[in-house]
Amino acid sequence: MSYDHKSVDGKWQKRWMDAGVFEAKEDSSKEKCYLLVEFPYPSGDGLHVGHPRSYTAMDIVARKKRMEGKNVLFPMGWDAFGLPAENYAIKTGNHPGTFTEKNINTFRRQLQSLGFSFDWSREVNTTDPAYYKWTQWMFLEFFKAGLAYKAEMAINWCPKDLCGLANEEVIAGKCERCGTPVEKKLKSQWMIAITKYADRLLADLDTVDYLPKIKKQQEEWIGRSEGAEIDFAVDGSSEKITVFTTRPDTIFGVTYVVLAPEHPLVVLIASDEQRGAVDEYTASVKSKTDIERGDETKTKTGVCTGAYVINPANDEKVPVWIADYVLGHYGTGAVMAVPQHDDRDRAFSEAMNLPIVDRPLVSFDEAVEKTSGRKKVQYKLRDWVFSRQRYWGEPIPLVHCEVDGWVAVPIEQLPVVLPVVEKYQPSENGESPLASIDSFVNTKCPQCGGAARRETDTMPNWAGSSWYFLRYADAHNDNEFASKEALKQWMPVDIYNGGMEHTTLHLLYSRFWNKFLFDRGHVPTSEPYARRLSHGLIMSEDGTKMSKSKGNVVNPDEIVNEHGADTLRMYEMFMGPFSEPVPWNTNGVIGVRRFLDKAMKMTEKISDREDAEVTKMLHKTIVKITDDIEGFGFNTAVAQLMMFVNVVQEKGSITKESLMTFLRVLVPFAPHVANEMWENLGGEGFVEEQEWPVADASMLKDDTVEIAVQVNGKLRGTIVVGSDETEEAIVTMARADENVAKYVIDEPKKTIVVKGKLVNFVV
Ligand SMILES: [Zn+2]
Ligand SMILES: [Zn+2]
Repeated sequence: MSYDHKSVDGKWQKRWMDAGVFEAKEDSSKEKCYLLVEFPYPSGDGLHVGHPRSYTAMDIVARKKRMEGKNVLFPMGWDAFGLPAENYAIKTGNHPGTFTEKNINTFRRQLQSLGFSFDWSREVNTTDPAYYKWTQWMFLEFFKAGLAYKAEMAINWCPKDLCGLANEEVIAGKCERCGTPVEKKLKSQWMIAITKYADRLLADLDTVDYLPKIKKQQEEWIGRSEGAEIDFAVDGSSEKITVFTTRPDTIFGVTYVVLAPEHPLVVLIASDEQRGAVDEYTASVKSKTDIERGDETKTKTGVCTGAYVINPANDEKVPVWIADYVLGHYGTGAVMAVPQHDDRDRAFSEAMNLPIVDRPLVSFDEAVEKTSGRKKVQYKLRDWVFSRQRYWGEPIPLVHCEVDGWVAVPIEQLPVVLPVVEKYQPSENGESPLASIDSFVNTKCPQCGGAARRETDTMPNWAGSSWYFLRYADAHNDNEFASKEALKQWMPVDIYNGGMEHTTLHLLYSRFWNKFLFDRGHVPTSEPYARRLSHGLIMSEDGTKMSKSKGNVVNPDEIVNEHGADTLRMYEMFMGPFSEPVPWNTNGVIGVRRFLDKAMKMTEKISDREDAEVTKMLHKTIVKITDDIEGFGFNTAVAQLMMFVNVVQEKGSITKESLMTFLRVLVPFAPHVANEMWENLGGEGFVEEQEWPVADASMLKDDTVEIAVQVNGKLRGTIVVGSDETEEAIVTMARADENVAKYVIDEPKKTIVVKGKLVNFVV
């Protein structure tokens, strides 16, 4: 007999919602705990099975923390501006908001059907004017602080989407969204000076607890390098070329200097004989993206300019070349080449038949002194291109007046609401569709009252997600983005979990945004997230990425309908180590459902007495689950819950008290089943309202043995188990071992157990 998951799931979801048990309280007597998951983009496809992996994990932590007496904030919302809704609008002529609202309703229903303990009273939506009013207000803070500025930029341009793209939206020279090769186009863009914060964004990584691989990504993206600027005089001219180098100590080995083709000196110094070749090469580089130019694997190209410079360290005359691998906007747009010490310079020398010389190194300091150079720090990080010529984004709240230039829209006129348009396409010259609405564009200057024109660019979809965690603290405040008291109560976020794909940009932008607001006195902490973790992707059964085109996408609705919410939740926690990618396995889903049926049946085994083994196992389980949740070891926690149920089944009885204690550690994983059993046993209220159990230390003493775990005869791990552990329990624990799980993905062909010694899986 299996339990009726449809009625059980629906019943408890309604009761939780009616009782508001998961709403965070403005109650400072309890210690706060702010748990955050990345809010989703509500796509038309609905929830993906990847979403519940992150949400279930944090839901488990949230439920445990509440039972430990913490005041928990665990909110949810929608990152709802974005191109898919806009493309839908272009195709159908419908307002993108209609599509977005429908998708949000689907997502909300799906999330609620999984029983997540989100505080729905604080739901936010980045496309809601009451929300983006504050995104606009924050942009104006940047503007007033001089950090938002307009610049003529050679931007990445997608000729299909007719849209400027940020560097990070260009993947291998192609548009991230449509795959069209990206071109360069000069356009006046709003920029935000994130580079002013580069040093602090780097240094403050020491003050937060991020997964080491996430910290490393942040460091690499900021890309700080120390070096020196050195001037090389152009032979027979009053001009000089300034190079940036991270290796001034190699100055004696310089054999040539390379300028970016767009460097302004190129036209001035090229010799008459070489001018034709130089012009031709410069023209050929124009269509290439920075990424193509920086590709280390491509054949090196370049031409010599016919000019020479003097090495200031030894007065040697070396030739000047131009080559596309040097970028005009990085460093000084000029580098000195030392093939003796640099692989790229060596490859270029070999391709161009340039000499390679063997010269001694000098100290750092000595090189800088000898060449009258200047020590210098440089970053890979560029300022943030903040303009988009699209409809479905926050309007940039500025107007342009002939007299006053760019003027901020006064706060009492915010939000600048997106007007209704007839067509959603960007114009042919790449202006936003807003530019064609005269009633929107033509306005009065707030400063002089004269005629003025509104900015028609909108913000990138990174804007709303750069501060959403602040809004959750006080989601319905009409006077401020959040009150000082609410921010002081909740910030910083204690644990933030999300995908590895967001650990560069979103994380960097939101850290920067928060730091800026901190400097303006609007938020209480300089860093927004105390701890940042990441979950591994869920792959399809064959180990490839799930995709609609391959038809291998698993729909969470189907699993919930067929097996219940708790099955999907527990399966996603059991399928493998949390931070690793794992393949989907339908048999595994069924196995988890069987476990839940078995767990339900424990209520039929209630007795006045229980075997000492059951009592002992209960206390071991409390310790294991407590530790595993803290360490994000959810798969081993589920294995332990399964072992406990097996022991009860084997021994045939359990006391009501023990079972009710067990339900308190089961509830974070399987909240519907745990509450149903609790009620069947006569428990009052919700299991979530009980205290988290504490193990009796005297019950934990046990003789243990170490067991070797082999896969196909190769040692893949060791586990420590009780000397009287059942064979089934040992096998379950062996499979849950992090390393072993990588090798035993499907059901093993054969499992060999040598008691007290080893387990060998044949796969
Ligand atoms: Zn595109
Ligand atoms: Zn004016």
